[in-house]
Amino acid sequence: MGPLGCMHRLLGSSENFRMSRPQSDTEKRKQISVRGIAEISDVNEIKKTFNRHLHYTLVKDRNVATARDYYFALAHTVKDHLVSRWIRTQQYYYEKDPKRVYYLSLEFYMGRSLQNTMINLGIQSSVDEALYQLGLDIEELEELEEDAGLGNGGLGRLAACFLDSMATLGMAAYGYGIRYEYGIFAQKIINGEQQEEPDDWLRFGNPWEKARPEYMLPVNFYGRVIDTAEGKKWVDTQVVFALPYDNPIPGYNNNVVNTLRLWSAKSPMDFNLKFFNDGDYIQAVLDRNLAENISRVLYPNDNVFEGKELRLKQEYFLCAATLQDIIRRYKAANFGTREPTRTNFDLMPNKVAIQLNDTHPSLAIPELMRVLVDIEGLSWENAWDVTVRCCAYTNHTVLPEALERWPVSMFERLLPRHLEIIYHINFLHLQDVQKRWPGDMDRMRRMSCVEEDGEKRINMAHLSIVGSHAVNGVAAIHSEIIKKDVFKDFYEMNPEKFQNKTNGITPRRWLVLCNPSLSDLITEKIGDEWTVHLDQLTKLKQWAKDPNFQRAVQKVKQENKLRLAQLLEKDYGVKINPSSMFDIHVKRIHEYKRQLLNCLHIITLYNRIKKNPSAKFTARTIMIGGKAAPGYYVAKKIIKLINMVANVVNNDPIVGEKLKVIYLENYRVTLAEKIIPAADLSEQISTAGTEASGTGNMKFMLNGALTIGTLDGANVEMAEEMGDENIFIFGMTVDEVEDLKRKGYNAMDYYNANPELKQVVDQIQNGFFSPGNPDEFRDLADILLKYDRFYLFADYEAYIKKQEEVNSVYENQAKWVEMAIHNIASSGKFSSDRTIIDYGKDIWGIEPNYQKLPDPSVPRELALKE
Ligand SMILES: *Cc1c(COP(=O)(O)O)cnc(C)c1O
Repeated sequence: MGPLGCMHRLLGSSENFRMSRPQSDTEKRKQISVRGIAEISDVNEIKKTFNRHLHYTLVKDRNVATARDYYFALAHTVKDHLVSRWIRTQQYYYEKDPKRVYYLSLEFYMGRSLQNTMINLGIQSSVDEALYQLGLDIEELEELEEDAGLGNGGLGRLAACFLDSMATLGMAAYGYGIRYEYGIFAQKIINGEQQEEPDDWLRFGNPWEKARPEYMLPVNFYGRVIDTAEGKKWVDTQVVFALPYDNPIPGYNNNVVNTLRLWSAKSPMDFNLKFFNDGDYIQAVLDRNLAENISRVLYPNDNVFEGKELRLKQEYFLCAATLQDIIRRYKAANFGTREPTRTNFDLMPNKVAIQLNDTHPSLAIPELMRVLVDIEGLSWENAWDVTVRCCAYTNHTVLPEALERWPVSMFERLLPRHLEIIYHINFLHLQDVQKRWPGDMDRMRRMSCVEEDGEKRINMAHLSIVGSHAVNGVAAIHSEIIKKDVFKDFYEMNPEKFQNKTNGITPRRWLVLCNPSLSDLITEKIGDEWTVHLDQLTKLKQWAKDPNFQRAVQKVKQENKLRLAQLLEKDYGVKINPSSMFDIHVKRIHEYKRQLLNCLHIITLYNRIKKNPSAKFTARTIMIGGKAAPGYYVAKKIIKLINMVANVVNNDPIVGEKLKVIYLENYRVTLAEKIIPAADLSEQISTAGTEASGTGNMKFMLNGALTIGTLDGANVEMAEEMGDENIFIFGMTVDEVEDLKRKGYNAMDYYNANPELKQVVDQIQNGFFSPGNPDEFRDLADILLKYDRFYLFADYEAYIKKQEEVNSVYENQAKWVEMAIHNIASSGKFSSDRTIIDYGKDIWGIEPNYQKLPDPSVPRELALKE
């Protein structure tokens, strides 16, 4: 910690503090910031609480306290503001017994909590001021919080945005996931290559979570199934305990605090008791830890299936623990029945909605059947009706390599009773198919949950569709592809199940938190209701051509770019030109996302500069970032190529300021928050038909970057919202990709027809960017020329042309900022609030509730009078 740091947060807190007095014009104060107003009494209380935590919780005084001690004291201070709201909210749910939503996900990519909590509670300005008065630099302390990196990419971040929206919309919602001891690895780039480091995020403790050992639950594995008079019994199992940790999810400005419950694996007391009895005490103690491996580490794959037994254990562990919790809570409310001995499960679908975030938690379906039939004694038909009406499945990808297909042999060992149940589900399902299409054996084979060709496997997507009353894709185009292509047979059988729910992002984190100056500028123009009704951003359109507003938007962008440039210089020692175009491509590294296509553009620009150094050139800083799955060879090679190209480009004196290439190391939620507000151009260039939705695209749009992209995922709807004239769309449509596939794609045709493309590919192939090892990128060139499943060359020319158009618009800054304003103003649809309202209406049967719960800091009598 620097000596009495006193850097003020942007639009300094003291300024707000002073402006908040004298308290004459409330409306005017409201316009200053959506992040709350500092009140003297609040500030004094926060200072007191902070000092109390430093003393009593951290057991330090200011002579010996480290910066991290200050961070923890601050986190505990802010958490104190949550707890009464949290308890009150849960009491309220208990009393009112509304329908509850259970969002099951193997990933919750939460990032940091401190600033988000302060914003949602409306205490940011007060806390800023308190810390300032204490002589502490709050932004420096915020940097000491570890990201909760319990996710890989879009799917995990979506779950996190949904939690924020569900709390903000007053829904009785619960996130359920796994408390991985190690989240997504930290990425280091060394000699241009990715190296993975463990993410030991809990090392210093997690101030936000509360362990609940009293609610620990058993989860069974292995064993065998026996027939008894009371039906099937699963016996001789190995038990692992699931220890819940509760994490608060504050709604925005409504005093709601929901719960994200994450399970941690715990050995039972009698685990391996045999070894203790045998006298090998040391080995027995060591083996106890083995069961706890279940929650050790997040699998770092994005959009790819890895069929490891430990992963199947994780999936079942989450489902088994969560369903016990759901049923316990349902029984505790005992809705609709006075019977003391039996709960009426017929009413469960009126009280419980279970949303499956992809197939990863799809074992919830057979597990719920097992509990209802084997334990609660329901008939199969009765249990199946309840299960289907409770469960709903969200599909996130159509890439075949990502679809979960577990070997039957693995199920037999690990979950023998579930295998029987799945077989019976499938038997009845295929009977229905047979009734509808008698004798259509090929259709039966296609629609089976059990794949019989090659190694016998369970198709978890098929199981999820059969066991759910609703199946949704995550963008309009993706939901259509599901109906017409991947799940066509299922759509023909049950068209009423299939829906679209276009993804969204929470505007609290992705604008209020990450871009305070743009937030304040917007609020100055249209008031602050946009934070919960993002549609209101359309009001900004009236100023799209207004030079004053344009200048203001441009100034904000320029400041954000400058701040990012400073950060990159401080952390990575790279110098960039803040007046160049910031062209940004950040997301997981995957062939379908086509970072290689971007790289082909970079090399093309480089060659053009070298060929004609005196030609006019629009200066660009091209930044690419993202993690590759550690076992994904091609993705790692792509990272290396980008870094080697950067080396050549950045060190060529002829290129100079015209072009810089930067690899953004360790892309994660916290880095996204810093990068996206500084972007001029957002790269969303996946092959049409491969990116289910994308959410990064929406974050950029909301922050006033223009998009260059294909007609894929949510790009399609973004273009619809803003108009084609405000986005740079290029390349093949889904139909054109399909045509090309049918016709046969021959990369050589494009290579031979385009001399610039040929030069670029030759350079990659010949080792131009890897002088020490000329063969380094031969395999990448080989893929491009022979095996490319994502048709890069087919879109190359259109991409390069569109990039030229980008340049010419960028040269006309008035035009550019006008388009940027249209982007911001058109992004209302992409609020996750809208997405969640739609899930509530069409899948869960729940209405949003904009009512505020009472502020628990106000005495109850006063609160009731309001
Ligand atoms: C939003 C987000 C993603 C998803 O990005 P896409 O471009 O939609 O793939 C991935 N990682 C992080 C850290 C994010 O914040």
